[in-house]
Amino acid sequence: MNAIPRLRFAHLPTPIEDLPRLSAALGGPRILVKRDDQTGLAFGGNKTRKLEFLVAEAQAQGARTLISGGALQSNHCRQTAAAAARCGMACILVLTGAAPARPSANLLLDGWLGARIVTVAERKDRDRRLQEVFEQSQAAGEKPYLVPYGGSSPTGALGYAFAVEEFMQQGVDADWFVFGTSSGGTHAGLMLGQRLFGYGGKVLGISIDEAEDWLKPHVSALATAAGECLGETIRFTPDDVLADASYCGAGYGVLTDAEREAVRLFARSEGLLLDPVYTGRAAAGLINLVRKGFFKKSDTVLFWHTGGQPALFSEQYANEL
Ligand SMILES: *Cc1c(COP(=O)(O)O)cnc(C)c1O
Repeated sequence: MNAIPRLRFAHLPTPIEDLPRLSAALGGPRILVKRDDQTGLAFGGNKTRKLEFLVAEAQAQGARTLISGGALQSNHCRQTAAAAARCGMACILVLTGAAPARPSANLLLDGWLGARIVTVAERKDRDRRLQEVFEQSQAAGEKPYLVPYGGSSPTGALGYAFAVEEFMQQGVDADWFVFGTSSGGTHAGLMLGQRLFGYGGKVLGISIDEAEDWLKPHVSALATAAGECLGETIRFTPDDVLADASYCGAGYGVLTDAEREAVRLFARSEGLLLDPVYTGRAAAGLINLVRKGFFKKSDTVLFWHTGGQPALFSEQYANEL
């Protein structure tokens, strides 16, 4: 395996904890949680592992400014802003939506972390606006690096390949990894890591907002390309990808009773906070799969917590949960 530049700012290894009260409440298999909500960088989350590789790549290219885009309450953008500050770089974020008069949650933190915020009214215009902002920054001599959407380039996905190496070194067995999947970098990285480091369980992504027929080819191509970054030739096909898109029908960020139940159940049975958009939905999927008898009673299921809790305090969700 080729060595690849990486910075070290994540708090690793993240703990693995048992959730016996949750397992009992569901009458299901043993459930563990991998606390990637504790990766550091302004409240942490799954983007921190990706950013260790992405910011290293940016610096290797001589970049001094990180530019990225996402939703107004993007966790990825908040962590990118924190990584920029941590590494002495500037940050510009192109966010979809109208900036509220009093920003809250992730958007509030983006400002505190020193990011310059550019808003774009509609999602369909975001990539064009991002490109314009990039070109302006370049023309101004700021040496920008475009952090891909969700940090999900092959380079970013490496963060999750090495997360599997970390898991293997923790000496815990799990038959399943279950987690929320959206831009696919976490999913692709875990699949690559499974092959590189010999994880014998299954890797099941609960889709947050994408159909399986988009997710599967996208994740398999990303996993293959991430392997190539390391000089490895491992071909992944769409059929290799385990994904369940049964829980995303309401649309991105739309809270339903299933997410509400998941957030409350984890909070009240284990004192563990989920977020409304990603881990709440992924856990709702996990809960439903347990109730349907999808897992064997003898299985151990590891829920990979990907963070996102600042969104609990956004005006959009604080009064809805
Ligand atoms: C971005 C994000 C995800 C999805 O990860 P991808 O690698 O984009 O699929 C899951 N959970 C949280 C909290 C996130 O911020």
